[in-house]
Amino acid sequence: MNTSETNPHKHRKLGLMGGTFDPIHNGHLLIANEAGWRLGLDKVVFIPTGDPPHKQDHYITPARCRLAMVRLATQDNPHFEVSAIEIERPGLSYTAQTLRALQEDYGEATDLYFIIGVDAAADLLSWNEPDQVLTLAKLVVVNRPGFDFPVAKLQAGLPEIDLNERLILLDVPLVEISSTEIRHRLAQNISIRYLLPEEVIGYIEREKIYLPQEEVLPALSKKGSSDAH
Ligand code: ATP
Ligand code: MG
Repeated sequence: MNTSETNPHKHRKLGLMGGTFDPIHNGHLLIANEAGWRLGLDKVVFIPTGDPPHKQDHYITPARCRLAMVRLATQDNPHFEVSAIEIERPGLSYTAQTLRALQEDYGEATDLYFIIGVDAAADLLSWNEPDQVLTLAKLVVVNRPGFDFPVAKLQAGLPEIDLNERLILLDVPLVEISSTEIRHRLAQNISIRYLLPEEVIGYIEREKIYLPQEEVLPALSKKGSSDAH
């Protein structure tokens, strides 16, 4: 229950999960749920990236499809919401900009908690306005198999920020699922069952968004080029 509705002095706690979600999987859902109940968040909002500044090294599924999959994956959980703010905004979106916009939308009585995996958090210094990200939201960093979190390096790069105050390290059950692994499996016709919700698997099959390699290669060679124009 949203306690801010009964007690006007109590701040509403909003979790935010940014990601490419190409596709969304059970690892994302698990960490959002863990952060939600462990930190007493009123909601967790999933925010798929539009044209992500940090990932232009491989083909990214159109935002419209990634958004549809996030909606399907989260629709049965009343504590989950989806925001298309980064998809609807033209051009590159930066997290600091998104946090400012959301703070304005939700109002001052809402505290923001930005949930990320250690792999993403380790890159924080390369983001746009990392100090602002940590000022606008508390950063909830969850563990992920194979990644360590360089807190000392982050603190050295952000001397103005008290990480003890702004950072929450959350131990969650380790899940070795990634969207990359799912895309690789689909390319090789390997089962993805139980790695992501059935509804999302159904969508992937219907829309044929991740074709197996043998179907992709002839299609590309027919076009003559696999490059963007
Ligand atoms: P890709 O392999 O394409 O990078 P991904 O599985 O890392 O996909 P993203 O959309 O890049 O998914 O991640 C969104 C957020 O979820 C990031 O903060 C990432 O660290 C976190 N995350 C994703 N999968 C896991 C996982 N299995 N355990 C913990 N955190 C995760
Ligand atoms: Mg990733």
